[in-house]
Parts: sequence; C-alpha cells; structure tokens
Amino acid sequence: KEKFNGIVYENLNNIANQHFPLCMLEIYDNFKQIHTMKHWGRLQFGMFLKGVGMDIKDTIRFFSNELKKSAQGEKKVKEYQYYIEHMYGKQGKKTDYTPWSCQKVAGKNIPTGNEVYGCPFKFYSDNALKQTLEKKKGLSAEDIEEILADKKTDYTRGCKKLFEKTHPGAIPNKGLGRHPNSYFSSSYWASQKRKTIDRQTD
Ligand code: SF4
Repeated sequence: KEKFNGIVYENLNNIANQHFPLCMLEIYDNFKQIHTMKHWGRLQFGMFLKGVGMDIKDTIRFFSNELKKSAQGEKKVKEYQYYIEHMYGKQGKKTDYTPWSCQKVAGKNIPTGNEVYGCPFKFYSDNALKQTLEKKKGLSAEDIEEILADKKTDYTRGCKKLFEKTHPGAIPNKGLGRHPNSYFSSSYWASQKRKTIDRQTD
C-alpha cells in the first residue's frame, strides 16, 4: 500500500484546494487574504495541519511567510511560533494536542468580526454557503441545491454531499462527517486511486 508522506509547504496550496474540507479551506483562504489568524482558527487549523502530517518546520514556515505580508506581521511571527510549538507539544505542558473532530469544530460559538473558524455547513446562511460553494468548488446550481437541502437535516450530511459531488464514485472512509482529517484522507486517497486507474487505462 502506498504511504502518505505528509504535506510540505511547497505543495500546500495545491493540496488545500483539492483535498481540504470546507471548514479548513475557509480558514486557509482567509489567512492568505488578511495575513492574520485569530485564536480559534489557529487551533482548529493548526492541529488539522499537524494531523495531516505537515511537520512543525513547514508549519512555522507557512505561518511566518504569510504573517510577514501584513504591516505588523514581523512582530507576530514569534507569538505564532510559540503557539505552533505548543500545538506540536514542544512548549508548555508538552501535551500532544489532538486535531478537532467535526463535533468540536461545529460546537463552537459562531465567530464574530474577522474571525474565521467553525463549520460552514453549521454556521453559514444558505446564501453564504451557496456563494462559497460556487466560488471555491465551481459546482452547478443543482448540486448546490442538493447540498443545501441535505445540510438542513444535518450539517454533516451537507459536508458528505459536497464530498460526493466533488469526488464522483469515490468511497470515503467511515470518519467522513465525523472528522475533518477524515475528509482530507478520503479525498487524498480517492485522487491517488484515480491516478492509478488513469495510468492503467492509458
Ligand atoms: Fe469540516 Fe466536519 Fe464541517 Fe465538514 S462537517 S466542514 S469536515 S467540521
């Protein structure tokens, strides 16, 4: 069986657009736009990154390079670095933090101001979710309608439907809808399988 070697800084952008669940893609895109990430977003996103195997060096490199693009960014690098070391269990109590489950992500209070975190299927209005899906996933109006209908019954069903629409025919692993890192691995392995099939049929 092929082994996943984790994400490196250089391919983060590609991987994010292809395989991140919407909750993480939203934080990622927002960070790239405003070059700052508040407390809850940092925890939700940072531990997800750790969970998908990005090593601490690359995580620090990613955060630092983005932060430096904002006016006060240089000053913040140290503070974020401490945070990241904490998450990776290198500072403080040296606890090895576990990436958040969907329940934990969606159970937070709705963010205010320019904070971005939480689950879009739980937190966004139909209209906001629709716009996000159009822009980021390029889905048809019918597909989006289906997703909106499903998330009304349960937010995780909306997320599963998005997976289904963006990975036709793929069989996700059982944790889809329960853990953002499961969404990631389902998506990643579905694409590896596709590549193998494409190679075989070439
Ligand atoms: Fe993220 Fe889970 Fe919400 Fe999907 S259901 S967007 S993986 S928190």
